[in-house]
Amino acid sequence: MSQSLNRVAVVTGAARGIGAATARRLARDGFAVAVLDLDEQSASGTAEAIVADGGTALAVAADVSDEQQVNAAVDTVAERLGPPVVLVNNAGVTRDNLLFKMSSDDWDTVLNVHLRGAFLASRAVQKYQVDQGWGRIVNLSSSSALGNRGQANYAAAKAGMQGFTKTLAIELGKFGVTVNAVAPGFIETEMTAATAARLGVDFDDFKAAAAKGIPVQRVGQPEDVANTIAFLVSDEASFVSGQVIYVAGGPLD
Ligand code: NAP
Repeated sequence: MSQSLNRVAVVTGAARGIGAATARRLARDGFAVAVLDLDEQSASGTAEAIVADGGTALAVAADVSDEQQVNAAVDTVAERLGPPVVLVNNAGVTRDNLLFKMSSDDWDTVLNVHLRGAFLASRAVQKYQVDQGWGRIVNLSSSSALGNRGQANYAAAKAGMQGFTKTLAIELGKFGVTVNAVAPGFIETEMTAATAARLGVDFDDFKAAAAKGIPVQRVGQPEDVANTIAFLVSDEASFVSGQVIYVAGGPLD
């Protein structure tokens, strides 16, 4: 997409999984991509793959729940790549447990990474977007926002992402900034592999069982989510804002 040339995108949690697929896709669409993750070495893997593919990428280390690290990382991106105008708030963790066994640390960790992380990164990036008069924010919600056994912390965070998305869409629209959420269903990544391991189920069996309940009869791949994000950050999506798009192979309430 020629409009994307030289525009700068930040993708958090982009060392692997959905974030890595999104970073690669946005780079192919012409964005210079900041690959942000906890660990610069793992972020470098995605950044090097983008550069080898002919794209522009920078690996940046930051814990998205740490205010100073996020502000410093966004300023580094602005200095090294240019003003960041696209932000994909993708970094995520799970700490699943039934409520009576869920520790306060499990609650705080999940809320801090997803919600506080999205807040801090969005606040740091919006000043560049407002200056440029153009911007896109995409937040990763989840089908778990609708409720999921063993995920009170994660469901609360992912439902919170939806309210956060709609509010930013209202506040930032007049500056040419759209804000949307994608809410994936079952996507094959290390996160879902870890869930299978925790339940003591073989991952292939876990995926096959999940696929049976999905109308398109397969689990999702990271690229399914990346493709949707690629549309939402494009110029063509300028009249789509404040929406939650389920990427789940079927309808969800
Ligand atoms: P993943 O494979 O576990 O990748 C998550 C990435 O986020 C990892 O690279 C991880 O880094 C990074 N990360 C974790 N905490 C961070 C922090 N504090 N600061 C910066 N980076 C951090 O997960 P995924 O399946 O691709 O999920 C990506 C997003 O989609 C998440 O928000 C998740 O909740 C959401 N989602 C996933 C699914 C699914 O089925 N997979 C469904 C719905 C929604 P480390 O490797 O260093 O820990």
